Amino acid sequence: MIPVDDSVESLRAEHEALMQFLYLAPVGLVQADLDGEIVMINPISAQLLMPLSPDGCLTNLFAALEGVAPDLRLQCREYPRANGMVFEGLHIHLRPQGLRKATPQILSLTLLKLDEARVMAVIQDVTAEVRRERQLRQSDAWLNAILTRISDYALAALDRQGRLCDWNESIARVTGFDEHIVGSPYSIFYPRDAMTDEHLLDRLREADHNGWSMDEGLRLRADGSQFWCSALIAPLPDREAFGDDPNAPAFCLILRDISDKRAATEKRRQAAFCDHLTELANRRAFFEAAELELDRAAHTPRSLALIVFDADHFKHINDRYGHPAGDRVLCDLANVLRDTFRAVDTVARLGGEEFAVLLPSTGIEQALASAERLRAQVATRLVAADGFEIAYTVSAGVAVLNDEGLGIDALVKRADQALYFAKSQGRNRVSPWNPELATHENPPPRSRHAG
Ligand code: GH3
Ligand code: MG
Ligand code: MG
Repeated sequence: MIPVDDSVESLRAEHEALMQFLYLAPVGLVQADLDGEIVMINPISAQLLMPLSPDGCLTNLFAALEGVAPDLRLQCREYPRANGMVFEGLHIHLRPQGLRKATPQILSLTLLKLDEARVMAVIQDVTAEVRRERQLRQSDAWLNAILTRISDYALAALDRQGRLCDWNESIARVTGFDEHIVGSPYSIFYPRDAMTDEHLLDRLREADHNGWSMDEGLRLRADGSQFWCSALIAPLPDREAFGDDPNAPAFCLILRDISDKRAATEKRRQAAFCDHLTELANRRAFFEAAELELDRAAHTPRSLALIVFDADHFKHINDRYGHPAGDRVLCDLANVLRDTFRAVDTVARLGGEEFAVLLPSTGIEQALASAERLRAQVATRLVAADGFEIAYTVSAGVAVLNDEGLGIDALVKRADQALYFAKSQGRNRVSPWNPELATHENPPPRSRHAG
């Protein structure tokens, strides 16, 4: 048995601790009798309720809330049980007086009946939470609208390797792919050869580095048809929550079918970046693509090859068959170039009868083999023009950039030196650059702007 004095003492200590808790609690607490007469109120409650109190003196809980929640008194009186929760988390909206457009403050009120004589009210300012919740709900609704209703957008989550984490209706609508694509790299949406493994990871790195990465071009539907598309990749903000799980969503991919818009911009782009005779990339497009490629190679070192082709004795062809026939030969060469190289390579006409091909992630052997394939193919061709069948040949110079930190101008210079050497060796041949060529008699320097 506890002696009476001790028990009184311990009750007092308990009461003291309780009062301290009430005082310091991070929520508003009010103890009142069943008529709402306040017995105890902590500072947070006083702060929250004081503006509501009609006469500025806070003596009755129900009276204070009369204007915003008139039936509290009744509810409390009619609560049938001896104790329990009268209501929980009732939202009370308080519109600041005089400010019609100001956002209302929202209080959450929970009322507990402690016994036949006492109630306890728990009051919290939940304005910020409610607003956040509303925003989340709105974002959800927008996202839902994009996923289900806006017909030209597709949204997908990618893991750290760029593999699709999930499938949804929007992907089906824009690309026609079904749920079997989950786990495939997002390059599944790109035409064959239009995306290398390095490019795929580059885009993810770019997104990490800049906050987003965007590209635009022809993309592939499940049925093999192509559509013009802009693709945005952005890192997901909360991906750290997944820890190191390699399959967890890490990026968001947004594909947008812009075929319609494309028709209009294509005309302008063609004029600026397309060679009018052959419809290959022009000199300007070549140097832009090259700068971009070099930039990527600088971030993640890899080899980059350049082949420069030049038609042999082209002046003779013009002289003998006429300039229009010469044009036909240039178009034929452009077609062979287009057919020989990958979509990821940049094939451009630098000017006159000179062409360049930039091959990302390609070493010297592979580049020489491709150049040789093109040279051999050209040597078999006969171009029909004005009743003639014109045979022609090309020479090529090949240079490769490893991690020497060379710029594009230096790379073009090396390829030119190799081309010059191929010409000097009798034409209709492919030569790789080697350091000795740098000391030979050099071809005239080439400018970026002139042909
Ligand atoms: P090499 O084997 O040394 O390259 O000799 P080449 O005759 O091909 O070289 P050269 O630089 O002496 O002559 C290039 C010719 O290409 C001269 C120019 O009139 C012609 N040419 C440049 N642009 C065009 C064009 O758009 N159409 C036609 N038909 N000819 C062009
Ligand atoms: Mg020539
Ligand atoms: Mg030339």
